[in-house]
Amino acid sequence: MFPCDKCGACCRNLNLSEQYRDLDRGDGVCRFLKGNLCSIYDSRPLKCRIDACYELYFSSVMSKETYYKRNKEACKALKNK
Ligand code: SF4
Ligand code: SF4
Repeated sequence: MFPCDKCGACCRNLNLSEQYRDLDRGDGVCRFLKGNLCSIYDSRPLKCRIDACYELYFSSVMSKETYYKRNKEACKALKNK
């Protein structure tokens, strides 16, 4: 499982990706974010599920190690914004 520390940074910067526009409450923050946590976690969209997305879209093009490394880099960039 991806080592997410539940900082919520990804869910507060949806305006950086066209794919998340439907979840953006208007200021880049997801309308389902409560504090730093997802209020619909168990039923969150596929695009919010790092491990499920790997299996479906990325497992044929890169190793899980590489995928996690790239995701961690994105997390770090968002945390430092
Ligand atoms: S930015 Fe990364 S560590 Fe923070 S909540 Fe999102 S996935 Fe987890
Ligand atoms: S649905 Fe949940 S996991 Fe997805 S962006 Fe919103 S708060 Fe984050």
